[in-house]
Amino acid sequence: MNHTFLPFSKPTIDEATIASVAEVLRSGWITSGPKVAEFEKQLSAYFGGRPVRTFNSGTCTMEIALRIAGIGAGDEVITTPISWVATANVILEVGATPVFADIDPVTRNIDLDKVEAAITPRTRAIIPVYLAGKPLDMDRLYAMAARHKLRVIEDAAQAIGSTWQGRPIGSFGDFVSFSFQANKNITTSEGGCLVLNNEAEAVLAEKYRLQGVSRSGWDGIDVDVLGGKYNMTDIAAAIGLGQFAQLEKITAHRRQLAKHYFAMLGADFTSRTGALLPPQDFVNTNWHLFQLELPARISRPDFMARMKAHHIGIGFHYAPIHLFKLYRDLGFREGMFPIAERVGKQIVSLPMFYSLTEADVERTCAAMTAVLAGQSTI
Ligand SMILES: *Cc1c(COP(=O)(O)O)cnc(C)c1O
Repeated sequence: MNHTFLPFSKPTIDEATIASVAEVLRSGWITSGPKVAEFEKQLSAYFGGRPVRTFNSGTCTMEIALRIAGIGAGDEVITTPISWVATANVILEVGATPVFADIDPVTRNIDLDKVEAAITPRTRAIIPVYLAGKPLDMDRLYAMAARHKLRVIEDAAQAIGSTWQGRPIGSFGDFVSFSFQANKNITTSEGGCLVLNNEAEAVLAEKYRLQGVSRSGWDGIDVDVLGGKYNMTDIAAAIGLGQFAQLEKITAHRRQLAKHYFAMLGADFTSRTGALLPPQDFVNTNWHLFQLELPARISRPDFMARMKAHHIGIGFHYAPIHLFKLYRDLGFREGMFPIAERVGKQIVSLPMFYSLTEADVERTCAAMTAVLAGQSTI
């Protein structure tokens, strides 16, 4: 048995990127500067020329989009219970009311029929999440948003490199938020970016990013909105530029690894084990994660412990947000979103990252086959 521990995710930073970070560190300018400007320029070109601003997280990026849209107290925002808790926390952060809509059991993304059913006269926005990098039916999403006059803040944290009808996610739509946190397909260690609709929104984003400071005053600076401290540093942007240059290679490799997982698990995997695989989409999704839903007979902690005994790290994304104490205290209860609750209990993420090899995939599948067949003891 191979005893090297295989984590479920890990960043790959090449030597050229490390050298460019060292260059920033030696330059005497280590906060936001020319590297941030260059990163924003390259991102904007990739997103079809739309305005893009960078931030120090993907979380604040969504919060700022909500502020730019003027969403706050008394407004409802619809989102999915299966995401990182940041997605719902930003709604609370701006004083608005989170409304959850259950997920589709196949894609594990928010179910647009349930979104439509959750719309009220107070609904102002939808925050869809592209779990594992898999987009929604974007045509349906935007047709619904237009019909009900709703803003969309796409939580595309996991979806850089994903596409819809040949166009990158982010190159169309309303607000689109990406994260460059360490485990994402491309990273800045921590960071994020927001794709906006026009220059007026971009100017507001810059204000919210830095204490509300406006630089347009004739006598220097002024402050006219309450902003925070959310700017990206040139150190982070140098990492981002090095990573972004490899986006195509990274996405292609992840798609190849996903294909290999399906090939190694075999067409009879679900009938053999009861575990549910993700949809086989090698066109739109960037395969940020490769996730399975375990059958009810297997407990996730037990599965994770057994895989760990095979030196394989398993992640889970995510526990249902509405069952966290903060949300239960707001009145959310078990039973409200049964599909999210089932998936949230049984979902696991297999190793998936740029330096993962086909041999690593084979090792993971072999261990998993043994564990799911109950032939593996700790
Ligand atoms: C990573 C992630 C976030 C948060 O991004 P940060 O950069 O860590 O703030 C939000 N939503 C989803 C779906 C994520 O995967």
